[in-house]
This record gives sequence, C-alpha cells and structure tokens, in this order.
Amino acid sequence: MNLYTINTGYFKLDGGAMFGVVPKSIWNKINPADENNMCSWALRCLLIEDGNRLILVDNGMGNKQDEKFFSHYYMHGDDTLDKSLATRGFHRDDITDVLLTHLHFDHCGGSIIRDGDKLVPAFKNAHYWSNERHWKWATEPNAREKASFLSENILPIKESGQLKFIETHQSDFPDNILIRQAFGHTDAMMLPQVNYKGRTIIFMADLLPSAGHIPLPYVMAYDMFPLTTLNEKKSFLTEAQQNDYVLFFEHDPQIECATLQLTDKGIRVKETFSLSAM
Ligand SMILES: [Zn+2]
Repeated sequence: MNLYTINTGYFKLDGGAMFGVVPKSIWNKINPADENNMCSWALRCLLIEDGNRLILVDNGMGNKQDEKFFSHYYMHGDDTLDKSLATRGFHRDDITDVLLTHLHFDHCGGSIIRDGDKLVPAFKNAHYWSNERHWKWATEPNAREKASFLSENILPIKESGQLKFIETHQSDFPDNILIRQAFGHTDAMMLPQVNYKGRTIIFMADLLPSAGHIPLPYVMAYDMFPLTTLNEKKSFLTEAQQNDYVLFFEHDPQIECATLQLTDKGIRVKETFSLSAM
C-alpha cells in the first residue's frame, strides 16, 4: 500500500468561526488572521493506492462555482487536484473510489465538474462513497448547515449512478482500511483509519481540522453539535495518544501529520512531519 498527500490548494475562513469560543488574542498566535479576520487553511486530500484500488479521500472545493462564491473563500496557492495527482504519476481517470468524509463543499466540491451546461462526475471511473445517514442529512439540510451542502456538488453524484453507501460491516474496502464515524461536526462524518508501514494513520477531516484544534475547547463554530464534538475529541485523543496514532490534517495550513503526547495541560502535539517522511 502507498499513501500520498494530494493538495488541492488553500482557502480562507473566518478565524473566529474556525476557533469557536476561543478568543482571537489566543487563536491569532496559532493561525494569524489577515485584515478581514480570515485565516488560511489547506484543502489536503489523501490518496490510497492498494492493489488495483486507487482511493481518493475528499477532493477539495473544485472550480465549478461562480466568481461570487469564490470571492468569499480566497482560493490561493499553486496546488490543484490534477497537478497533485500528476506529481504522483496519476490521472483523475485512474481513481477507482472517492471516499467523501462528508458533503460540505470544501470536502466534496471537486466531485462534480461542468461539461458544457451539464454537471458530470469529475472521476468517471470511480464509485463515490457516502453513507445513507449522512446522505439523507445532507440532502434534507437544516437552515444552519444549508450553505455548506450545495446541491450541485451532491445530486449529480446520485444521478450519475456512481454513488454507493458504505455499510457498517465495511467489506467494501481493503482490510487495512477501517471507517470510523463522528457525529458532532455533522451527522455521520466518516474518518478513514489506515494501517500503513506498521502505524495507524487517521484522516481527521473536520473532527480535528488542524493541529491547533487539539486542545479540547477548540471546537469550530461550524459544528452542529459542539458538545458531541467535545466528547468525540476527548475519547479519540486519549486513544490516539495511548496507541501512538498518526493524525493526518485536512485543513492545517502547515502541518500534514502529527503524533500526540500527554502533558500537564492535557494531550498536545508530540512530533509533526510530512506523510512522505513516514
Ligand atoms: Zn472542512
């Protein structure tokens, strides 16, 4: 098995929204804001090559929305999905599976592209994996979360016939990939856990969007059920620290991977490194 980081670029989100109840005087030291209070975040995906499967975990924001939409998110940097795949020797048509941790636009926007006036799958040879519970949640959205679930990212997946739901027994993926779930950020988000080079690596999605979110009260204002996130973080961090897991961050602007240690203040980062250094 091989794992590769697939960077699809950087975007900006309001720092206050990203750090919830934590005051700016504190979070601004972790991820400094620009003059509009916006911080830079990565759109970092994971590519898993296992036998004849090429599994892409999330796919960034894509490029099909209009100028007004992108004016809110300040895409920057040179990385794109296609460029990053090419660097690893792959093309989007090689992807056999697209695993969508959840259907917020910054995780699944690259799923669908424009072809003339049609919206079609960006990965024409892939199954797209969600789960039935999250799909229902995303396609019947509540008013607070609605702006994150864009129908043009979601409905064409089903229309294409390429949508599949992961069942709880998870026989759909190789044995060395386990799908965990979390329920605080959104309903039934999926976190792939991969055995790789004798280590356990977890794709954190939005349970821990960055290393800066490791201290317990650092819960995003975007979360639907912040106290659920708090409990999920607490039990996950304990398990991860005790078992020396490697955390892979989707949104951290600098840090790709980290391990954890127990300190006087609680669980904190031990080491940071890039995936390619593993
Ligand atoms: Zn996100």
